[in-house]
Amino acid sequence: MDLLLNGLDCAHCAEKIRCEVENLPDVERAEMNFMAKKLTVTEKNGADPEALFERIGKIVSEIEPDVSVTEFGKYLEKKEADEEEPDGKVMIIRIILSAILAAVGIVAEHIIGNEAAALVLLLAAYLTAGYDVLLLAVKNLFRGKMLDEHFLMALASAGAFAVGEYAEGAAVMLLYQIGEYFQDYAVEKSRKSIAGLMELRPDSASVRSADGKIRRVSPENVKAGDVIVVAPGERVPLDGVLLSDDCSADTSALTGESVPRTFRRGEEVMSGVINLSAVMELEVSREYGQSTVARILEMVENASARKAPAESFITKFAKFYTPCVVAAAVLLAVIPMIIDGGFSSERLYPALSFLVVSCPCALVISVPLSYFGGIGGASKNGILIKGGSVIDALCKADTVVFDKTGTLTEGVFEVTEIFPAENADRILTLCAKAERYSTHPAALSVKRKAEESFGDIFSDEISSEELSGMGVKAEIDGKTVLAGNKRLMDKFGVSCENPEKAGTVIHLSEDGKYLGYILISDRIKPRSAEAVKRLKQLGMKTVMLTGDREAAAREIGEKAGIDKVYSGLMPDQKASILEEIQKDAKGVIFAGDGINDAPVLMAADAGFAMGGIGSDAAIEAADAVIMDDDPMKIAHAMDISAKTGRIVKQNIVFALAVKLAVLILAAVGIANMWAAVFADVGVSMLAVLNAMRAGRYKAARQ
Ligand code: ADP
Ligand code: MG
Repeated sequence: MDLLLNGLDCAHCAEKIRCEVENLPDVERAEMNFMAKKLTVTEKNGADPEALFERIGKIVSEIEPDVSVTEFGKYLEKKEADEEEPDGKVMIIRIILSAILAAVGIVAEHIIGNEAAALVLLLAAYLTAGYDVLLLAVKNLFRGKMLDEHFLMALASAGAFAVGEYAEGAAVMLLYQIGEYFQDYAVEKSRKSIAGLMELRPDSASVRSADGKIRRVSPENVKAGDVIVVAPGERVPLDGVLLSDDCSADTSALTGESVPRTFRRGEEVMSGVINLSAVMELEVSREYGQSTVARILEMVENASARKAPAESFITKFAKFYTPCVVAAAVLLAVIPMIIDGGFSSERLYPALSFLVVSCPCALVISVPLSYFGGIGGASKNGILIKGGSVIDALCKADTVVFDKTGTLTEGVFEVTEIFPAENADRILTLCAKAERYSTHPAALSVKRKAEESFGDIFSDEISSEELSGMGVKAEIDGKTVLAGNKRLMDKFGVSCENPEKAGTVIHLSEDGKYLGYILISDRIKPRSAEAVKRLKQLGMKTVMLTGDREAAAREIGEKAGIDKVYSGLMPDQKASILEEIQKDAKGVIFAGDGINDAPVLMAADAGFAMGGIGSDAAIEAADAVIMDDDPMKIAHAMDISAKTGRIVKQNIVFALAVKLAVLILAAVGIANMWAAVFADVGVSMLAVLNAMRAGRYKAARQ
């Protein structure tokens, strides 16, 4: 079951909740997606979901009393729930009030010298800032949860009051609350960036019924084949084929591309784009659940589920960190007292400073926040990355392997020659008929050309079979027709020509008799060469794999500036070559258009599916999806990942170093509590600010 934990803002507590839920007898697995506030629980067989839900609710309210648990509904409910969340205004007022009281208190203590007034003022400042923390601490004490942040913070600050350091006591609480507020703000802000994507979710669609009337219905209730209309300026709610005239649309929400794109009549328009011209009429091609928008939302939602090792490391680390620091604090207080043989409040002081830095929250939150920032920044640029682990894989990679057709090339072929010329018409029609059910780019181009020349030729039903990486075999008028590359001809023992001209060849045979070939040529994408150049600048080796013949492969490889080209490959051979390459590489990225590439996408350390949200299998298998078909986006994804990786490292190293330094200085009595709390809150703030940098990436555009 999926649960929404509304109000969840402490990453460390989230992990604690997850652990306790996973330890329940009825639970097989529990996964926490902190950024989406989602807890996914896999029940054991025979578990009673209602009882379990109640148990989980209890656990949550014990660890985080402000968090409410609900069933994770659809995006809309989630959006509403987000709006309900209490805003931070009250907290700001409390912080300001407390700061004023504390300042006056300090003046009273040090300048006027009125001890009693100082105590009253500073105590008031303390309670204003931290009454809720104290309340929670007392509750936790009764539950036996002594290692809780609230409890430790309350202990440290109350201890400061006890040893007569009123100003420190108030300051610890005040700064702790400022730090907390700031973290909540940062988390909320990054969550809003998902919420921005949530705007994509359509509220309704205008369906035109048979009698011409237009009804507004919920997108879930629209079936494939229905006709919808989209007003100018409106977002397209469902994927559909354009029935009305050519129009232009803003695709920036999907692709990050700000230049409007033109859609032609008969072309499929993706949901999520904004209509910029006259009223659009679309025939819905698939229902909402399968639409582009629904898929994107699902992917982004689950993005933080694939955790990077650094994320797991830091949550594990946090589990040990707090107990260790607290144990050290106890020793620090007790040992000198044993040696001196008596209680002394002065000896307590360094131990209290220890408690101030015992909270691992800054660290725990800054790491997922960084990855999340990177993922969010990528999605703004039209790159959907499936998780922190993918970012890590991209950071490590040193080789990029491209598929040729549709990845480096347009995948839109032009027919350039038909041989023999005297038989051209028959070859073209027969080939187009055989390719009737194929979606391979080569097949599409032949069908397009045939339709342009002869109109509709697809009247009779045929049966056909696609032989992946080779071509098609079809039964037409009782005869067996083969259309495909040389490999296909060889397989069926048909001897064929070998044209010298560059380009892809579709040979054609009928009942074992060779009829001739169609030469088609593909254009390299305008940005391919630039993308390869940029990747090389980043220190990457580049490789191209293709099932096409050598002449065609070499031409494209040279134009794009690829280091090494492999041609004539079957889809499974592509996977094995990729594995070969992996042996000598630190990490291999594969980029393919997703048509029969799923095995290769899966085998790569990071697989990119290009050309948007086309094939289901590709999206499943890929680690990242590029919404348009710009190969430059691979370089952008690398840049974003590298930046994110750097930020994660900086945060871990910096936060650990500062905490360690403060611990040592406090132990030897150099750092006082002021230093400790400043260091702790300062580190949180810097780490969080640094993490938020990860989301800021704007690709340079030409
Ligand atoms: P790539 O994407 O690298 O070109 P594919 O495995 O998709 O590799 O296809 C390999 C080759 O097989 C193509 O270049 C083409 O010559 C041939 N081929 C595959 N499918 C078809 C088809 N439906 N019709 C004609 N030729 C095809
Ligand atoms: Mg292909």
